[in-house]
Formats: sequence, structure tokens, C-alpha cells
Amino acid sequence: MNTVNWDFETDLLVIGSGSAGLTAAVVGEHEGLDVIVLEKEAFYGGTTALSGGVAWVPNNSLMAKAGIDDNPAEVITFGAKVKEQEICGGI
Ligand SMILES: Cc1cc2nc3c(=O)[nH]c(=O)nc-3n(C[C@H](O)[C@H](O)[C@H](O)COP(=O)(O)OP(=O)(O)OC[C@H]3O[C@@H](n4cnc5c(N)ncnc54)[C@H](O)[C@@H]3O)c2cc1C
Repeated sequence: MNTVNWDFETDLLVIGSGSAGLTAAVVGEHEGLDVIVLEKEAFYGGTTALSGGVAWVPNNSLMAKAGIDDNPAEVITFGAKVKEQEICGGI
């Protein structure tokens, strides 16, 4: 078996500094891992930095328990409008 000599080693390498990446990084750090986050852009945050900052979880079980009706069709329509740049400037 070949031995590879890496320039640098870490326990957890996270690619991207949006909410997904930084959540992984924080959990990894909390679990005692050495963590490195790589971000290709000049600024951290990705799309997350442009967001409203509150996790949108449509039609979830807690809403159903609270008697809040979140129509799945409207959720899909909203997503399509975002994609078509009618809302939030698109993504
Ligand atoms: C205007 C707007 C408002 C929003 N508001 C809300 C909201 O209120 N609530 C909600 O729940 N959601 C909202 N969203 C959606 C939400 O922001 C995204 O779904 C979420 O931020 C995506 O997170 P992410 O970590 O997957 O991606 P991102 O936040 O986009 O992070 C990905 C990161 O990876 C980096 N990357 C990509 N490729 C590489 C590579 N090869 N090497 C290194 N780095 C790389 C990118 O540069 C970026 O920084 C909104 C979106 C927009 C555009």
C-alpha cells in the first residue's frame, strides 16, 4: 500500500461556508474534531448570507400539530417563483 504524505491533515474538511457547511463545522468542532472550512468566494456565507435568517421548513409536522395548514402546492409554486426570479431576485 502506498503512503501519501499530505501537506496538511484535518479530521473534517468542510467545503462551503453557508448554513450547511458551517453547521457541519460547528458540530464537528463541538465533537472535538479539527475542522477546516474552505470557501471559494471572497466572503463567507454563500446564499445563506442573503437569506432572511430564519429556517423555512414548510408543511412540517409541528405546524400540522398546531393546526396550521400549509398547502404543499403553494409551497411548490413559491419555490418555482423564486427560481424564476419573481421573488428574492432568484437563486
Ligand atoms: C434572497 C434569499 C432569501 C432567502 N431567505 C430564506 C429564509 O428566510 N429562510 C430559509 O430557510 N431559506 C431562505 N433562503 C434559502 C436559503 O438561504 C438557502 O437554501 C440556504 O442558505 C442554502 O444553504 P447552503 O449551505 O446549502 O448553501 P450556501 O449558503 O449557498 O453555501 C454554499 C457555499 O459553498 C461555497 N462553494 C460552492 N462550491 C465551492 C467549492 N468548490 N469550493 C469552496 N466553496 C464552495 C459557495 O461559495 C457558498 O459560500 C433564501 C435564499 C435567498 C437567495
